[in-house]
Amino acid sequence: MKLEKLHLDKKNNKLILRIKDSNEEMVNTLRRVILEEVPTLAIEEVELFNNSSVLYDEMIALRMGLIPIKTDLDGYNFRDKCTCEGAGCAKCQVKISLKSGKKGYVMASEAKSSDPKCTFVYDMPIVKTLAGQKLEVEATAILGRGKVHAKWCPGHVFFRREVEMEVDDKKIKDAKKIAELLPEVFELKGNKLSVNEESLYMNTNYDAAKFDGITIKETDNFIFTLESWGQLSTKEILETAAEIMVEKVEDFIGQLEE
Ligand SMILES: [Zn+2]
Repeated sequence: MKLEKLHLDKKNNKLILRIKDSNEEMVNTLRRVILEEVPTLAIEEVELFNNSSVLYDEMIALRMGLIPIKTDLDGYNFRDKCTCEGAGCAKCQVKISLKSGKKGYVMASEAKSSDPKCTFVYDMPIVKTLAGQKLEVEATAILGRGKVHAKWCPGHVFFRREVEMEVDDKKIKDAKKIAELLPEVFELKGNKLSVNEESLYMNTNYDAAKFDGITIKETDNFIFTLESWGQLSTKEILETAAEIMVEKVEDFIGQLEE
């Protein structure tokens, strides 16, 4: 399996790779390991001391559970595998408290975390309060995996076959019109269509194939897109996924030898 970086948008946590010398099974395994196995921090327990807002306690808890938390994978253990044996300690859980009594939106940025490295990634509204309404919450975040609950999922991953586009200038009837209809795919150079290579991995653009003279062929390569929800960088997600895949193979070999 060979990886080539095609596009990295650090601000939006998006990475697009070309994967060569592989097959659907391997690429899909990588996708599933990212979605289901790469751990992140998310709120698991919520204690509400005061909630006079319009949302039920359960809804506040659910909303807070889904807000991504910046995750320090080296700093935390899974609670059930921690030295505290599941009791909960500073090595396996982050305490997040939120106290608000003002009118208007209660925002995620008002929450205080016991670990300044592990705070909410985005400033999202949690609830809108009227004058006199209060919210006081103490929440506990722990490491978990996406296969248990989607709140621990580190991002959005998908892949598809890379396509090649061939343009036969002799068969093209109206190059200008095609370039106008699909401006992200084609540029008009003189009277000829020139393909914007970047559009081939950013979009599928199979629409282009309905015109005479344009053929789209699938190649053996894959275009792999990974968008992090913000808990981990795309690099951390891929590195952790690779480590987990190796661990699983070693575990399998170990079982065969027993
Ligand atoms: Zn612990």
